[in-house]
Amino acid sequence: MLGNIKLKTKWHTLNQTEKKETKELIKKIVLLNALKYDGRATPKPIFSKLLGENPQFRKQINEISPMINSIVHEVNTLSLKEQQKIVAEKWPEALVEETIEEKKQLPPLLNVDKYKKIVTRFSPNPDFVLHLGSARAILLSYDYAKMYNGSFLLRFEDTDSKTKKPKMEFYDAVREDLEWLGCKWDGEFIQSDRLEIYYDHAEKLIRTGNAYVCTCEREVFQEKSRAGKSCPCRMLVTQDNVVLWKQMLDGKYCEGDAVVRVKTDLDHPNPAVRDWPALRIIDAAKYPHPRIGSKYHVWPLYNFSTGIDDHLMGVTHIIRGKEHLTNQTRQEYMYRYFGWEYPETIHYGRLKITGASLSKSEIVKGMNSGLYKHWDDPRLATLAALRKRGITSEAIHSMIIDVGPKPQDVVLSWKNLYAHNRKQIDPTAKRYFFVKDPMKIVVENVPHAFTIKIPIHPDHPEMGVRNFQVNPEMGKAIILISKEDIEGITGKSAVRLMDLFNFRMKKKENGAIQTTFLSESYEDAKKLGAPLIHWIPVGNGVPCQVVMPDASVVKGVAEDACRALKSNEIIQFQRVGFVRIDSFSERLIAYFAHR
Ligand SMILES: [Zn+2]
Repeated sequence: MLGNIKLKTKWHTLNQTEKKETKELIKKIVLLNALKYDGRATPKPIFSKLLGENPQFRKQINEISPMINSIVHEVNTLSLKEQQKIVAEKWPEALVEETIEEKKQLPPLLNVDKYKKIVTRFSPNPDFVLHLGSARAILLSYDYAKMYNGSFLLRFEDTDSKTKKPKMEFYDAVREDLEWLGCKWDGEFIQSDRLEIYYDHAEKLIRTGNAYVCTCEREVFQEKSRAGKSCPCRMLVTQDNVVLWKQMLDGKYCEGDAVVRVKTDLDHPNPAVRDWPALRIIDAAKYPHPRIGSKYHVWPLYNFSTGIDDHLMGVTHIIRGKEHLTNQTRQEYMYRYFGWEYPETIHYGRLKITGASLSKSEIVKGMNSGLYKHWDDPRLATLAALRKRGITSEAIHSMIIDVGPKPQDVVLSWKNLYAHNRKQIDPTAKRYFFVKDPMKIVVENVPHAFTIKIPIHPDHPEMGVRNFQVNPEMGKAIILISKEDIEGITGKSAVRLMDLFNFRMKKKENGAIQTTFLSESYEDAKKLGAPLIHWIPVGNGVPCQVVMPDASVVKGVAEDACRALKSNEIIQFQRVGFVRIDSFSERLIAYFAHR
């Protein structure tokens, strides 16, 4: 799908800005066509694509046709490389959009034969809901497990009640998101239930001289570490370290006074790897854990608990972002001390969606400031928000599989996601009329009553029809049409009410719009170049509010047939876009998905 630039449905010649925008749009289509055919674009498919997606151009064909020819000529003088460069710079998302047609498959996992059973995991911290970025880890891990008849585990990593404090509501929210994505997990673990396991392993490392209790001030340790030198604690004999560890568990130390460190090479080229902290003390009274309260004050840090669990749970393949590469280096020391083999890893690149904040901290900031009332605010890219807007989990799935686990960074746009979603919903979404900011028009000289049947879906007659009845009184019919459409009608131009009849504007005066009946046939409308607009007979329809992606609300009237819609149905308001029905009490509340 290519971007629809917003040109009003007027039949005048293009002004300068519109000309520029149109040329840019054509250039994009031409370039993409050229890329598909070895660097040579042909005008014909460009016409169909442009007009198919932007029917308003049909009226400007005389202006547009020479534009297309000259741009095709211009693009064909460029080399394939130059063409690729332009597209990559200007429309990187289009390169992905264009490949949707081919159903992609994930590349095979490495070293599958080494393992009896493939085990993957998704391991969120339940301190927030999941967002589009998390979907990648989930779907790739799930799909790979299923691809090899393996297991997919869910592990809540909730060991930081101080800075990344888990919340009870998010354990269930995460489960709900996973279920919605269709990723049923074969086993569930919660790290805050496993503290004794981590303590046992910490003690083993201390007793074998591979870890120690460090009571240095942080700055003192860091200074030594930067210089590649050992801190005094590291040089204590093992027995003394065991004593310190017991004291740590017994509560002899306060928060910040002691940490357990795993020994690494002191001169490791990355200072962040050197003697990394494995367990620390959290003031349990001040920062109680939402699940287990103040029972424990020694808590594992990320690398320690994750590393231990991946081994104990038999995880064979870890699929995660490349920001975890250093963590692997850290954990590999521990694995060596225990004589374990590190799982296979796939580190994928960053995924950015232009215009969407995928950073948890930014979203939380907006929640705290009151900018967003709830985490399913339509402005957010949380799974809850996308679900509310009628983005299907299948669309997210196919987008993620398209991107795959490649290590390069990927930039996508909302349009990519919309294109995937449209492919899912367009074939079956029921069609209805929604008139935004409705205004009454009076059509005079209507010759008779009209009983109109419009298919619920143009490609599926079996889905039935919607019925409209227009009963003129003394030849006058009163119809609701959108204020926007009225404003677009100029002079005495002809207009067609979709599937009803054609009328001509007489006069617009103080908001009262006088029009006169013209003819019935669609052919007539075509001849006259009449724009097709949607409508609702006055007295018909149900008040409806559409919540837009920017959280603004569009008010209008939806046709009567919408009364039968159920919550969660995804439908199309013709000429407006796809929406998800949220609720229906006094008025219908819908959330806008995309055009
Ligand atoms: Zn120390």
